[in-house]
Amino acid sequence: MSDELRELYQEVILDHSKNPRNKGFPPGCNRSADGHNPLCGDKIKLKLVLEGAGERANVSAIGFEGSGCAISQAAASTMTEAIKGKSKEEIHQLFTRFHDLVTGHYEQDLESLGKLAVFAGVSEFPMRVKCASLPWHTLQAALAGDGEPVTTE
Ligand code: ZN
Repeated sequence: MSDELRELYQEVILDHSKNPRNKGFPPGCNRSADGHNPLCGDKIKLKLVLEGAGERANVSAIGFEGSGCAISQAAASTMTEAIKGKSKEEIHQLFTRFHDLVTGHYEQDLESLGKLAVFAGVSEFPMRVKCASLPWHTLQAALAGDGEPVTTE
């Protein structure tokens, strides 16, 4: 990764951690989950509106509350932007790609990942992978609807 790209990515992460999108909960939420990354102290609470049934059910609205490091909060912010309006199936595919990205497999089409691509640099810091993926694991739990708090441990 070039230094320029790295700087750009860091700027986006800082922007999202300072000015998080979709902070607070939209009305009519029917799914929620809590996530915790004890290694770093990151906490995320997600609430969303799931419409429809099965794999084609889609997330029509989502919001979060959280505290923790810049990476975890920026990951939650960019994730909520990226998945709004998407089906469970699409979200699952996106999560797989995001997970590949933060674990160092970025021989994929970064442009189609949009802002999620800014987490490519995280793969160089194994401790941070859990920070970046916490919101995604929390989302999986919310979509599964089992209501159990998730932890990265
Ligand atoms: Zn963290």
